[in-house]
Amino acid sequence: MSVTTRIHHLNCATMAPPLAARTGLAPDHLVAHCLLLERAGGLVLVDTGFGSADIAEPARRLGRAFLLATGAALDPAETAASQVRGLGFSVEDVTDVVVTHLDLDHAGGLSDFPHARVHVLGDELAAARARRTAKERNRYRTTQWAHGPRWVEHHPQATDHWYGFGAVPLLDGDAALVPLVGHTRGHSAVAVRRPSGGWFLHAGDAYFSHAEKDDPPRCPTGLRAFQTMVQVDKHARLANQERLRSFHTEHGTPHGGDVTVFCAHDHVEYDALAGVTD
Ligand SMILES: [Zn+2]
Repeated sequence: MSVTTRIHHLNCATMAPPLAARTGLAPDHLVAHCLLLERAGGLVLVDTGFGSADIAEPARRLGRAFLLATGAALDPAETAASQVRGLGFSVEDVTDVVVTHLDLDHAGGLSDFPHARVHVLGDELAAARARRTAKERNRYRTTQWAHGPRWVEHHPQATDHWYGFGAVPLLDGDAALVPLVGHTRGHSAVAVRRPSGGWFLHAGDAYFSHAEKDDPPRCPTGLRAFQTMVQVDKHARLANQERLRSFHTEHGTPHGGDVTVFCAHDHVEYDALAGVTD
């Protein structure tokens, strides 16, 4: 029996890459699809988008190259903190944050919830702390967690938890970290039990276009190139994408299953779910 009573879909960062607008090789805008769970004990946020400090000091927190490439809107109203307040809550009501990974467009809001526990796969936290490569020094911005988050590291066990994925149960079984590495070293999807029955699977950056769930998969050229550019493990990323695709075909709601799969940045998936009350 789920103690999650309501799930909100939030877009916590709109990005309009200028290159996409000029070339048509990518969608005209991307979102940062986050979830806010209302539970008996408080609120749980899944991913955070940009935070208020990113918007106050974008060059220092996000870097000029990232800002230029992504065309980030930096709208204060889009921060998770602002939307939490807009729903009549306070930021202190958020007891837990679950992150798919710690890239700058997913972890920026952590500093708006300094008191919350932050659940992450151990491999991801280790990668973000080590920042071993130039790619990782760009994507992981230490300023975003200089406040010292209350990290809760999770390590996948050899179990078949959650449809055989070897996931880590969270929130008394109402959520799970579903390891899908490749985009980053400890990238994870987050499964969330819906109060109305079935599950959401927030796939983070395991894929970028809704059409990548189709068989055969399709992806705008620009998004495909971007995913290749930022991956840390091509083999693992593509194998996990394939696994997710067959999972969606077998268990996805469009195919009569009970799992609604969506990724972090596809606005088509976000638009379809934004108005859904769960
Ligand atoms: Zn991302």
